[in-house]
Amino acid sequence: MTSFGFSLLATNGAARRGRIASAHGTAETPAFMAVGTAGTVKAMTADAVRATGTEIVLGNTYHLMLRPGAERVASLGGLHRMADWPGIILTDSGGFQVMSLAKLRKLDEVGVIFRSHIDGSAHHLTPERSIAIQHALDATITMAFDECTKFPATYDEVAASMRLSMRWAARSRDAFARRDGYGQFGIVQGGIFPDLRAESAAALTDIGFEGYAIGGLAVGEGQTRMFEMLDVINPLLPDHRPRYLMGVGTPDDLLGGIARGIDMFDCVMPTRAGRTARAFTARGIFNLRNARFADDARPLDPGCPCLGCARHSRAYLHHLFRAEEMLGSMLLTAHNLTYYQRLMAGARCAIETQTFEEYAVATREGWARGDD
Ligand SMILES: [Zn+2]
Repeated sequence: MTSFGFSLLATNGAARRGRIASAHGTAETPAFMAVGTAGTVKAMTADAVRATGTEIVLGNTYHLMLRPGAERVASLGGLHRMADWPGIILTDSGGFQVMSLAKLRKLDEVGVIFRSHIDGSAHHLTPERSIAIQHALDATITMAFDECTKFPATYDEVAASMRLSMRWAARSRDAFARRDGYGQFGIVQGGIFPDLRAESAAALTDIGFEGYAIGGLAVGEGQTRMFEMLDVINPLLPDHRPRYLMGVGTPDDLLGGIARGIDMFDCVMPTRAGRTARAFTARGIFNLRNARFADDARPLDPGCPCLGCARHSRAYLHHLFRAEEMLGSMLLTAHNLTYYQRLMAGARCAIETQTFEEYAVATREGWARGDD
């Protein structure tokens, strides 16, 4: 068995090129992780996800505990086997969805009591229960259970929420069963207040985790403030552990996050956009429902190796969305994930050759130039 580890292979300014090693294989960083909410990356087979270059898939504790149930997943051999994904799986703690989806929440020091958005059944999620569920799912990377701080919130509200999350982080660490090749990440909270972020980073590094996530950003504070917070937080985190910016983001957010030392990202954006006819390309974002594509025989994004670009035209993709054929969602989801993974591969190569800044400038120029 491999032990869970992170090696830093190269740096370029604050940008980092690394590799995660785990019980379920390795992942090159900076990495974009595909969101596989309920045990599937929507509209994608596992083979199709692999073909995009994705090495880590996310699972959502909240969704999987309600349906099909964590113990049922365990009895079916775990999430890797059930979903045909032998590679690295990261599960969230469930806290974010409890706050955004569930009904009748009651939060106290122990945890959160809520009712399922599916059938109204009552559930109690605590740090201990969240970690046990993630263990039953067989997550390679388990996230500490934290409170999702609302935004905007006052300094005192954010401080109280962050300190509760830090007490929950200590309980999450105690509940985590250490196994070779498996890791657990703590989550830095503290809103947009630098001193609270510093207090949170110090509390988590005192506990000691295999990696550190940054939560509570991209919730409406804007990209400028998000980048300012990354400049505050990243220098406070240990160099030899991976850093994960949760729920981010646009391709431009990824370039800005990498430039500031982030190693891992996840976001529903490429997959959700793919189901709604929006394509990320080297020339910016296209909406394939647009009539201008009806007779456009060119590939969506020349040079992209995905099935939709290599074998089909923009006109065909346009037709599929107009006719509401599900193949449109499948092809465009695969394309968008491929685009994100090629963006990350380019960033990794640029960091190795000390040209990340030039790579980011050239990539942004391509988006600004737009379609011909
Ligand atoms: Zn493509």
